[in-house]
Amino acid sequence: MKLIIVGGVAGGATAAARARRLSEDSEIILFERGKYVSYANCGLPYYIGGEIEQRDALFVTTPEKLERRYRIDVRISQDVIHIDPEKKEIQVRHLETGDVVVESYDRLILAPGARAVKPTIPGIDNGNIFNLKDVTDTDRIKAFVDTHDVSDVLIMGGGFIGLETAENMGRLGIRVTMVEMLHQVLPQMDYDMAVHVHQHLREQKVDLVLGQAVEAFNTQNGRIRAITDKGLELDADMVIVSAGIKPERELAESAGLTIGSTGGIHVDSHLTTSDAAIWAVGDVIEVTDFVSGQQTQIPLAGPANRQGRAAADNALGRPDAVGGLLGTSIVKAFDIVAAATGMSEKRLKKAGYAYKASFTHSLNHAGYYPDATMVSIKLLFSPDNGKILGAQAVGGEGVDKRIDVLAVAIQAGMTVYDLQELQLAYSPQFGSAKDPVNIAGYVATNILKGDVEVLHWHELESFAEGEYMLLDVRSPEEVSEQGMMPGAKNIDIDQLRHHLDELDKTRRIVCYCTVSMRAYLACRILTQKGFQASILSGGWMTWLPIQADREAQQQG
Ligand code: FAD
Repeated sequence: MKLIIVGGVAGGATAAARARRLSEDSEIILFERGKYVSYANCGLPYYIGGEIEQRDALFVTTPEKLERRYRIDVRISQDVIHIDPEKKEIQVRHLETGDVVVESYDRLILAPGARAVKPTIPGIDNGNIFNLKDVTDTDRIKAFVDTHDVSDVLIMGGGFIGLETAENMGRLGIRVTMVEMLHQVLPQMDYDMAVHVHQHLREQKVDLVLGQAVEAFNTQNGRIRAITDKGLELDADMVIVSAGIKPERELAESAGLTIGSTGGIHVDSHLTTSDAAIWAVGDVIEVTDFVSGQQTQIPLAGPANRQGRAAADNALGRPDAVGGLLGTSIVKAFDIVAAATGMSEKRLKKAGYAYKASFTHSLNHAGYYPDATMVSIKLLFSPDNGKILGAQAVGGEGVDKRIDVLAVAIQAGMTVYDLQELQLAYSPQFGSAKDPVNIAGYVATNILKGDVEVLHWHELESFAEGEYMLLDVRSPEEVSEQGMMPGAKNIDIDQLRHHLDELDKTRRIVCYCTVSMRAYLACRILTQKGFQASILSGGWMTWLPIQADREAQQQG
């Protein structure tokens, strides 16, 4: 059996190694257009920033090692330019000699990934404007930074790679401007969680330009000037474009393989394409969303590796089906970590789902143990049975653990009631007797059981003035230190029972405190005394970053 694999990094290299472990006698040839195989894409920004010091550390393996240990015929600098599914042949161009050869196959696995998008903007071909997709890009960026006096970098796009690059450029002492056409970074998250990242970036002196698209680049005194659609002019010594990726699907398309509605190669649950002898994996395919069942694209390393393994199994006759994907992802930018799994609120809304949301802010470990930091969690769940539909977490240490627990909970089909029951490891350094995940479960359960009526920040805005009264139940000291929501009345939670006669039973009372814990108690007191009371979900810690962000965005 002769197996050919196109693409030699995450999905392709995994498929090749797995295939050899399953079949000692197969002929396995791996074609890679670039000069390197099986390298750590995800480490590239950290090599530029110096966190990863040795370039060699980026290479998980080399063509020589793959040949020696796995007896895989690795052919680098070779571009597969055509597939003939009828004849079961491919055409390959050697990029150094220009020679084109034909190679036959019995089975073919496509793992060509995706290419970085370089939008068609006037001036984008300037040599000081870079993408960051592979080792060659990385070498070019590093060489530029090392040999030029770079004081300002402009990063176009606020996704994962943009944020990681911002951190690493910042580490090198370079001033960072980030331009993002949406009104938020990290599009897979909701605005009300992304604002925490905005706040942190601004604290780190990143000049964050949101809601504006770069329309043109030109050169001014040897520097690059970016001009946005709102006429803003931004000068920098170099630009990194991280404006998304596009599946490398042309090879499959020209071979007549079915391309899905999202633009990725369509595969079945066994990763088989529309041709029974061809499988496809990684960033090039479209996948099934675990929660919605809809087709989508999830270009992440974990799925590419899993699919590479499964495709090898399938190609070698050992059926292995892959499940739907949650798109569990995490990114760190300077000192903030943001993570998401499952559906976001905006996607649920767009797909017409009924859902409820909760916001909680809890310490990553016991508050009495030094250096506890906040983990903010947004949970999205079904109003009918509490089934978890999605989760987002932002904070410092411990965000990774919580999002992973929540991802497993979604995959296991758990509800918010189950989250209360999760028995998670605790000692003061690592967690709390009530872990942030348990607390998210308690709060969501309270909402579902109707123990408390919750209003979200955007719902509050839909009420007319005078229709409700805002009640701040923090201490007067906290209020004088931190401020209050406009128009709010302050009654310390400990004094509330003595001041009930100051409150109006004919108006809705919206209670809040720092994280809505005391507000919940206030609500319980008030509703039992005949008041119509709600809490502001997530309290001051959800509301304040949103207000601050709106003001910052208005000021431009
Ligand atoms: P790739 O790993 O991109 O490999 C595809 C290979 O195929 C390429 O080397 C390409 O040259 C080759 N190829 C394409 N066409 C041909 C052809 N016709 N002939 C021969 N060879 C061809 N994901 C995460 O989950 N977490 C992270 O932290 C993370 N960080 C990232 C940071 C950066 C800077 C980048 C660029 C990506 C990051 N990713 C991350 C995404 C992750 O790397 C990809 O999802 C994953 O590598 C996809 O695997 P793949 O096998 O589909 O494609």
